[in-house]
Amino acid sequence: MLFDAHNHLQDDRLKPNLEAVMAAARGQGIGRMVVNGSCEADWPDVLALARRFPQVLPSFGYHPWYVKECTAQWQARLLDCLAQVPSAIGEIGLDSWIKDCDVARQEEVFIWQLRLAAERDLPASIHCLRAWGRLLEILRAEPRPRRGFLLHSYGGARELIPPLAKLGAYFSMPGFFAHERKARQRETFRHVPPDRLLIETDAPDQPLPDARNRFPLLDAGGQPVNHPANLRAVYEFAAELLGRPPEDLAAQVESNFLRLFTLP
Ligand SMILES: [Zn+2]
Repeated sequence: MLFDAHNHLQDDRLKPNLEAVMAAARGQGIGRMVVNGSCEADWPDVLALARRFPQVLPSFGYHPWYVKECTAQWQARLLDCLAQVPSAIGEIGLDSWIKDCDVARQEEVFIWQLRLAAERDLPASIHCLRAWGRLLEILRAEPRPRRGFLLHSYGGARELIPPLAKLGAYFSMPGFFAHERKARQRETFRHVPPDRLLIETDAPDQPLPDARNRFPLLDAGGQPVNHPANLRAVYEFAAELLGRPPEDLAAQVESNFLRLFTLP
């Protein structure tokens, strides 16, 4: 069985094909997928998916890109989603790569959610771009979930892996890192401790190179999107990169996934 540590199944780009997408995912042996809400507007969709598909492990959080959209009720709404179904926290994080980012606001929203995950010992899925120093400081200063947390699409320095792992980090690799130009990220993943490795599609984003894409899919506007059923192709890429037999890697990822994402 395969486990997708990070996707956005609720994304509008997947909506027109949802039934077919989930049938293909089942056909590929995908047992669980962590579906990450990213703002109040998409949390109800994540909740509906969790009620409809047993493969969906719902996760609710405010992504750093959308903190400007927080309403006065965002914390109450988040708590309400968590009360509806067993769920994780994410996607949360820090991003100083996007234009016009409000770093102070991002940190405030991130820390509130991180504390909540720690208090309830829920798995937290963290996005970080160009904010690694600050993330490390916050993770050291703040309470963290005892079970650990996920750094999705880890693109930080290789040298940061040991200190982050010591704080409880798991690291998930997307198929996007199979692109030629992602050599640094591929090399970084060879240094992730085997018991902290996870695999993700980040569908409908972060597509594999065309040669590895087994489920070509277009959105309503005719633009290509990453199909969640490409997860097996991402596992194969990871097995090649790490020089591990595919069954052996799958067993490792399964035990890592269940350790981090089995909800209380
Ligand atoms: Zn994401």
